[in-house]
Amino acid sequence: RTVYVNGEYLPETEAKVSIFDRGFLMADGVYEVTSVLGGKLIDFDGHAVRLERSLRALEMASPVTKDALLEIHRELVRLNGIDEGMIYLQITRGAPGDRDFAFPDPGRTPATVVLFTQNKPGLANNPVAKKGIKIISIDDIRWGRRDIKTVQLLYPSMGKMMAKKAGADDAWMVEDGFVTEGTSNNAYIVKGNKIITRGLSHDILHGITRAAVLRFAREAQMEVEERNFTLEEAREADEAFVTSASTFVMPVVEIDSARIGTGAPGRVAPRLREIYLEESLKTAI
Ligand code: PMP
Repeated sequence: RTVYVNGEYLPETEAKVSIFDRGFLMADGVYEVTSVLGGKLIDFDGHAVRLERSLRALEMASPVTKDALLEIHRELVRLNGIDEGMIYLQITRGAPGDRDFAFPDPGRTPATVVLFTQNKPGLANNPVAKKGIKIISIDDIRWGRRDIKTVQLLYPSMGKMMAKKAGADDAWMVEDGFVTEGTSNNAYIVKGNKIITRGLSHDILHGITRAAVLRFAREAQMEVEERNFTLEEAREADEAFVTSASTFVMPVVEIDSARIGTGAPGRVAPRLREIYLEESLKTAI
């Protein structure tokens, strides 16, 4: 595959980043994942805006304009012939040439910009969405700025491994008795016709898919309540689901081995998935 590193398009085997890169040494970097459907970018604008926000929160200057970023995304889709898949983008604070906790002088150390594609044929018609996924609950022991999309993903990785060992697909994280979010997705429950999801704060990532799904839900006259919910409430809900750029809307049918509703995807999550795929394709670029 052809990847992008600091202004160049290269075969992946020739792409290089310094061992002093602060992304590598200190997880000092941010990322975005944008999905591609029909060769087009889903919600590129939302991802570009959140990227800016993450960079600003970490006092990093933006090394590429939004227009240049769009061009790189499109070029990678073209060069790699992606019809359905994802584009991963990472920007780190660069490689100051030594290891130091203090941030390097921003004017002297250029950021490292890396993008690559992940080909996922059948992403939209993922058969897993027909069956739904099983999740476990784990403590949320991450840092306090989960709204910044940093590359420190060790705990979410461990969470996925805990799920795997328990025979489940993913984990929801719980803090002070309330569900925060999934390891790599936002979490929702459904009670009757009401969609309930935690409100935005520093405690969760402000999902781009979350924003779109809630907008589409409200436009379809569905009731949305942004508030904290507990695991007990989730276990007694009619439905549960998660959203992310790579899974869109994914029904959750089991939490800690307890069935949600009938133990099969319900009415609301599959409908939201359909609406999301249809509507987001209309604005794909
Ligand atoms: N929460 C976390 C912790 C995530 O890692 C992700 C996906 N990166 C999300 C939520 C969903 O965000 P988005 O819809 O923008 O992919």
